[in-house]
Amino acid sequence: MNRSAVRDFQAPGVSVQRGEVLVPVQVGDPARGPLPCPAAPLIAGSLLRKGWRCTLGSVPRLDEPGSDLGGAALDLATLYLATCPQRDGSTAALAAATAPGDRMAAAAASSVIEEWAAVIGTRRLLITASPWCGGAGRALDAARSTVADYGGRGPRVCIYGELAAPPEAAADLAARGAVVIDSLAGLDRGDVVIFPAHGVPPAVRATAIERGLTVVDATCPLVAQAQDQASRIAERGDDLVLIGRAATRTAAAITGHAGGRASVVETAAGAATLQVTDARRVSYLLQPGGQVETATAAVSSLRSRFPAARGPHPDGFCYAPSDRALGIRSMAAGTDLMLVLGDADSADVRHLSGLARDGGARVQVLGAVTELAAAMLTGVSVIGVAESTSATAGLASQVTAALSGLGPLSVIHRQVSSQVTEAAAPAAPAAG
Ligand code: SF4
Repeated sequence: MNRSAVRDFQAPGVSVQRGEVLVPVQVGDPARGPLPCPAAPLIAGSLLRKGWRCTLGSVPRLDEPGSDLGGAALDLATLYLATCPQRDGSTAALAAATAPGDRMAAAAASSVIEEWAAVIGTRRLLITASPWCGGAGRALDAARSTVADYGGRGPRVCIYGELAAPPEAAADLAARGAVVIDSLAGLDRGDVVIFPAHGVPPAVRATAIERGLTVVDATCPLVAQAQDQASRIAERGDDLVLIGRAATRTAAAITGHAGGRASVVETAAGAATLQVTDARRVSYLLQPGGQVETATAAVSSLRSRFPAARGPHPDGFCYAPSDRALGIRSMAAGTDLMLVLGDADSADVRHLSGLARDGGARVQVLGAVTELAAAMLTGVSVIGVAESTSATAGLASQVTAALSGLGPLSVIHRQVSSQVTEAAAPAAPAAG
């Protein structure tokens, strides 16, 4: 590929402190005009890890070293610069500037530009879908419009349990007065309570109504459907077995509808030891929000013990987690490196990293674009990006933009999406 060697230039009109490095976001090239530097955050990140102070800025003009500037050349900042082509045929720069005569900063700046110039190349970036499912998005919209309607106008606005939402969106709701609660105690008539996508047990709903609270029900329709099914199971006198995870709000919101005859089973072993009231009167549901495939072993175990057990119709399954997992595994199989975006300590990052490794990928967790190091990209031409629920807003876009500064980059968005449709009726035989 047509990339330049790293060269040094004079940078008139630029002020850099000694002991500091200026990382340009744009460089004025007298021949080619302004050159964008999309990889600037990567260069700044490398310098920061080496202990250098960095600022981002613009370099209005570069000149050949020793250009006659009326004897002022000795007082000019030094710019280290490499260039690479972009996908649209334009040119981008990787650059860093240091104060006149600051040899240590100059050595650091030139070596970092060398590092990144060494990994310039043509790449493909595969990006997974948003980590937020339709149910979570719907609940966030409801919370936002509730806060807009009521926030700061008298009644308190509360969210019963954590809202599944990007960290910035949750912080914004909190800043506008929404409070996350675990109990309705202390709320007064007219206060507003939002039930998030995971739903609430019927006792909580009944208490909210008794107290005269304004209820905004943002329960995901798939959870609400499971709640209805749990009620019907209880009405016909069956024990409910929920295949899912007991220590979750969704499980409590569903089993609460089963009239006290519900168990939650996560594994085949759990199903094998389950006690029920009457082995002929067992019905089971899959907990929405879990991968459908992971329930298979528990369902088989349950059905072998209770052959008369009645199960749910697959039309009502939540396929969002299965689609997400399948998308990440299949993407990982075709990448040289999978970037998992978010907080390394978060459960979702650990989950995504496990899926990507299952798919055969090398995984790197990034909490910020500046954490990407040149060494991670050596020999890498296909990169996957999986955004976790703990990723800061815009991180996937920042990573994409920064990587575009390292050579031609194709960006492909990949999404697995299951859809329940009506089976097509067979065509009528031709008359005659
Ligand atoms: S049930 Fe499925 S679609 Fe609904 S909130 Fe949970 S994961 Fe999202």
